[in-house]
Amino acid sequence: MVGLVCIVLGLLVAVSIWVEGIDSMHKNYPDYKGEDLFNEKEEVYPIHKFNNGRGAMLCNNCRTIISTGPKTEELYCEKCRGERIVQAYYEQMEKEVHFNRENLNK
Ligand SMILES: [Zn+2]
Repeated sequence: MVGLVCIVLGLLVAVSIWVEGIDSMHKNYPDYKGEDLFNEKEEVYPIHKFNNGRGAMLCNNCRTIISTGPKTEELYCEKCRGERIVQAYYEQMEKEVHFNRENLNK
């Protein structure tokens, strides 16, 4: 009986914390959709580091140096850019196959 009461009380506390968390997320971050949790819409910015006084641009994916000197708008090194294009291509192909399944046998 004591065990049952403890479980119920524990659940009540957990649920109230959970509800409060959902509520505060709604109030404070109304446009938060949890996309960062699954890397769905990642925003990338050029990474510029001071490399012994000379600037260096780093790749957003593998963090290797793309170029040295002033800041540029480059986001990825050549290797990662190629990989991202291939990945985007396969994702697009995957989507088209899923959404246009009836077109496959034409
Ligand atoms: Zn890279």
